[in-house]
Amino acid sequence: MNIVNDSTCSWINDLPPRTNIKSLQSNEDSEWLIIGAGYTGLSAARKLGQLYPNQKIILVDAQLAGEGASGRNSGYLVDTTLNDGFTSNKDLDNYKKKTDIYNLGINVVKKFINDYQVDCDWNECGKYFASSKKEDEKILRNFSDTLKKLGFTHNLLSNNELSKRLGSNFYNVALYTKGGVLLHPGKLVRAMIDVLPKNVCLYENSSLLSWSETKDIISCKFKNGRVITKKIIFATNGFLKSLGIKSNYNFPITLTASMTRPLTDDEFKSIGQPKEWGVLPIRPMGATIRMTKDRRILIRNTAEVHNPLKMSESELNKRAINQKIGIKKRFPQLPENIVKSSWSGVVSRTRNSSQIFEKIDNNIFAAGCYNGSGIGVGTLFGEQIAIKATEENSKEIKTIEARRKPTWLPPNPFLNFGVKGRLIYERFKARSDI
Ligand SMILES: Cc1cc2nc3c(=O)[nH]c(=O)nc-3n(C[C@H](O)[C@H](O)[C@H](O)COP(=O)(O)OP(=O)(O)OC[C@H]3O[C@@H](n4cnc5c(N)ncnc54)[C@H](O)[C@@H]3O)c2cc1C
Repeated sequence: MNIVNDSTCSWINDLPPRTNIKSLQSNEDSEWLIIGAGYTGLSAARKLGQLYPNQKIILVDAQLAGEGASGRNSGYLVDTTLNDGFTSNKDLDNYKKKTDIYNLGINVVKKFINDYQVDCDWNECGKYFASSKKEDEKILRNFSDTLKKLGFTHNLLSNNELSKRLGSNFYNVALYTKGGVLLHPGKLVRAMIDVLPKNVCLYENSSLLSWSETKDIISCKFKNGRVITKKIIFATNGFLKSLGIKSNYNFPITLTASMTRPLTDDEFKSIGQPKEWGVLPIRPMGATIRMTKDRRILIRNTAEVHNPLKMSESELNKRAINQKIGIKKRFPQLPENIVKSSWSGVVSRTRNSSQIFEKIDNNIFAAGCYNGSGIGVGTLFGEQIAIKATEENSKEIKTIEARRKPTWLPPNPFLNFGVKGRLIYERFKARSDI
């Protein structure tokens, strides 16, 4: 398995290049092996390193640590989501369980940045669920009822107020939630790499090729070596399925995004000099669009079934055209050529949008499938799956395990047909807001 990420993500390219990168070049034994060094794997390694400072913990990644989805997402640390259909009373209880997990996720990231004094452009500015279609107010009023019952501070906004706040006349209706944070995802994940405990060996560009378990010993094969370990945690999110983990419960989806250069003073004035903001779509396939602290505009408006291992430059360029159009629709006064970078990233989904957090076998654990909430939930699940793997319990694990469990998915080719069909339908429904 060879994962080839594009090297064009501005979040990652904002950071100083890393040094001291090691890959696995020999056979090793360890107490713990963690596969995948995004928010989940890094948090699991940090937690285990703190719990067992004298044990050997190996953390591997197929590419550079933190340069998968964790370094290339849109940077919304969410307290609530709208896109999973939890807008009826019948689902209130499940929705509450979901937001309890989000809340723990926000707290765990907050604690991390406070403990390690991390600068990741943290801004508790809330977020907007917005639509260009006035008739979507119905969906938002319904959602507002749910939020009211659960005590989330929010309010509905219409066109005039929105244009002042966002600097765009595009949106006609929105629901603003006070909770939720915007941040720089690359800076956050880099900090998680930088503070790894001393007893964690990080091997990068080291893809797990195959693994097997005999008599409670797990043997893992890499291109240039083998690791024999007592316990293993799979934290590969969009690549859980390709490693055979919970394969009938998750599937990868590829997203693409683009970001502009910082707007000039004149360009920024032309859109009314708004404060930093983040908009999430009302329909799942609408665009996520964000104004960053340093006046860049980020847009993510694709989600598709695609080969998760690689997206070619020409395929990425095609998607970037859609993103330029999305920015132009919202900011017609800005020049055409301001997009500086476009990139792709892979996430993992389940049928009912529920996450995987599981002991798969005696010594085998997995966490993933966070959809658009992986910053907080991935960090939380990473720490908690490490605790679960030590056979301990916590109040966080109790909350996590009270959620709905992921539901079964049909095998391919039925799965791919079904998902593709659904995405086409959702894209059609969201067509005005892409
Ligand atoms: C464009 C985009 C926008 C998003 N926006 C948001 C957002 O605004 N807010 C939010 O909360 N979430 C968002 N997400 C989702 C979020 O990024 C993910 O949920 C989160 O990063 C998952 O973290 P992770 O550590 O579980 O997985 P990843 O960061 O994907 O890490 C998994 C790692 O496993 C490695 N790996 C895979 N296979 C192997 C193997 N065989 N051997 C070794 N290593 C392997 C990969 O190289 C990868 O680095 C977005 C994602 C994308 C792509």
